[in-house]
Amino acid sequence: MHPAFEGLRESEHDELKYKAWASGHTGYPFIDACMRNLIAQGWITFRMRAMLVSFASYQLWLDWRVVGYHLAGLFTDYDPGIHYSQLQMQSGVTGINSMRVYNPVKQSMEHDPHGDYIRRWVPELKDIPNAFIHQPWKWGNNLVDDASLLSNTVYSKPIVDHESTAKEAKQKLTKVRQNDCFRDISNSVYNKLGSRKKRASKSKKEVCENQLALF
Ligand SMILES: Cc1cc2nc3c(=O)[nH]c(=O)nc-3n(C[C@H](O)[C@H](O)[C@H](O)COP(=O)(O)OP(=O)(O)OC[C@H]3O[C@@H](n4cnc5c(N)ncnc54)[C@H](O)[C@@H]3O)c2cc1C
Repeated sequence: MHPAFEGLRESEHDELKYKAWASGHTGYPFIDACMRNLIAQGWITFRMRAMLVSFASYQLWLDWRVVGYHLAGLFTDYDPGIHYSQLQMQSGVTGINSMRVYNPVKQSMEHDPHGDYIRRWVPELKDIPNAFIHQPWKWGNNLVDDASLLSNTVYSKPIVDHESTAKEAKQKLTKVRQNDCFRDISNSVYNKLGSRKKRASKSKKEVCENQLALF
């Protein structure tokens, strides 16, 4: 954790947003499907874990600790040595990793194009036309404004506008990164914990793949 990010989100904690996220009622079908799957089965993939944390941290502006404790209680493979460094990386508070803000609609279209996964875990949307499965608010029928309803019969409208809140969050973190001694402290975080693994250069990688193809 880069100390410049201490106190960034804690004072603005929104319990309604936290409860909607933690129970899978944000109004974003793919986010809700992943959370409900996790609640039911105790495991999801790396990317979906990262997306849930990114959405909670950037779009809902929730502190990585409240987010992390909720997920720790759900992960069958919970391992504090992996978990909290991942929470700090995915919520953008290390100062040595780039901000990765996931677009929940783009992720939904890319990873569940026909909405099969969404319909399995968000039954309120089982009869919705394919054209609206990733953005049901554009369909408009049968949706409610009140996220605190937390209903399993009617689906709630999005609790935030994901694009404007993502933009606002990035601006707030960029502002922190601009303060004077930010870079010096980042260097000390990197020296202590930064990955030393260099990405294989493309050409070398291609060479390897070509060699592998021979076998
Ligand atoms: C926000 C967030 C929180 C996470 N919390 C945990 C956690 O509490 N416990 C946990 O084991 N993993 C955690 N991970 C890492 C990773 O998501 C899981 O290890 C992986 O998805 C587990 O699935 P698997 O056993 O099929 O992994 P495989 O992909 O089959 O990997 C095999 C093993 O390698 C290790 N591993 C895999 N990915 C990572 C990684 N990124 N970092 C470190 N070790 C890894 C795990 O021990 C895993 O069991 C987290 C990732 C994110 C983004």
